[in-house]
Amino acid sequence: MVTYCKTDGKGNSMKEARTYESFPAPMVSLAILVSLLIYALGTYILAVLVIWLSIPYVLYCAWIEFRILKYSCVDCYYYGKLCGLGRGKLCPPLFKKGDPQSFAEKEISWTDLLPDFMVSIFPAIGGIILLVRDFSWLILLLLMALLALSFGGNAVIRGSFACRHCKQREIGCPAERLFSKEPKKQING
Ligand code: SF4
Repeated sequence: MVTYCKTDGKGNSMKEARTYESFPAPMVSLAILVSLLIYALGTYILAVLVIWLSIPYVLYCAWIEFRILKYSCVDCYYYGKLCGLGRGKLCPPLFKKGDPQSFAEKEISWTDLLPDFMVSIFPAIGGIILLVRDFSWLILLLLMALLALSFGGNAVIRGSFACRHCKQREIGCPAERLFSKEPKKQING
């Protein structure tokens, strides 16, 4: 669910992009729509496999959102602001503001991101089992849509919108460092 690009896909370096104090609502709406579509497709595919599987899956997706808010958004520059993914505004009612410096200082690994990827991997496995068990074009199309949105859709949302214009990326972002293999920026105290 989290893919980043070094450039905006048009060869323009992220560094050249202007940053937004508050992201334009249409951009944010598109980012939220992509996330909700991924959750909905995942829930549907797992419900077709075994109806009750949709319950723990929905709870899992809610836990992933909660986890991002609690461990990332609290320390982010966009805490209480409209960020590219829309979560910045969701954070204040749930969590006290954290420390933006610790966001820039944080180090994350691929293992830390594995729970986010599982949001797509769980239903993808479910979809493959369904196709092997009893092939259906509908399930194949839904599975392809899920994977396209999870990896392609998110890459475009982040590469062209959210990360490209993100002030926190300028200050320092562990995820961007992980994906672009860049060293930590010297934070001017
Ligand atoms: S940019 Fe990312 S970390 Fe910052 S508030 Fe938005 S979703 Fe949370």
